[in-house]
Amino acid sequence: MSPQQTLEAVYVGSFDPPTLGHLDIIRRGARLFRQLTVGIGINPDKQSLFPPEERMQLVAQMTDDLPNVQVQCFEGLSVTFAETCGANVLLRGVRTVSDIELEFTMALTNRTLAPDQETVFLMASEKYSHISSTLIRQIAKMGQASSKAKLKEFVPECVIEPLLSRVRG
Ligand code: ADP
Repeated sequence: MSPQQTLEAVYVGSFDPPTLGHLDIIRRGARLFRQLTVGIGINPDKQSLFPPEERMQLVAQMTDDLPNVQVQCFEGLSVTFAETCGANVLLRGVRTVSDIELEFTMALTNRTLAPDQETVFLMASEKYSHISSTLIRQIAKMGQASSKAKLKEFVPECVIEPLLSRVRG
């Protein structure tokens, strides 16, 4: 077994909702790591559109063809979650220079907290680098009926209906 095949990673985030950009990072991560666990962060202080369990179901649905990908919800620090999963890599996606600034601070902090874990960055694919969950929530809220076809450009098919029914309230 080559060294990289022994690596296990976690990919944590809010995924509110999960997007094509997230899916791209998950697919590419699944090719690099023996096991990849997607961690849906539960943040009781943050108002979210989808409850964590539903985000978990959506990510599980959109990755059901990837046998080495698992999904879990977690509360607390990413490094503790990674440790619980037996992972030694924190996978992150970066889209812009401003992402890098934030991610750099987070990676250094995580290294202080857990020196045995490495943060690995994958650069966003060109066709998804403009996609963010925040933007998608806005499109779904403002576009309403007309947004169904447009949302296909941003989120996996299985996310569209749940997203529209959430914003309808
Ligand atoms: P957070 O609450 O950590 O911002 P997100 O769910 O927005 O959670 O993102 C989780 C991870 O996915 C972060 O590393 C983020 O930079 C990355 N990411 C988000 N959108 C994209 C995208 N379109 N392409 C690549 N990476 C992305």
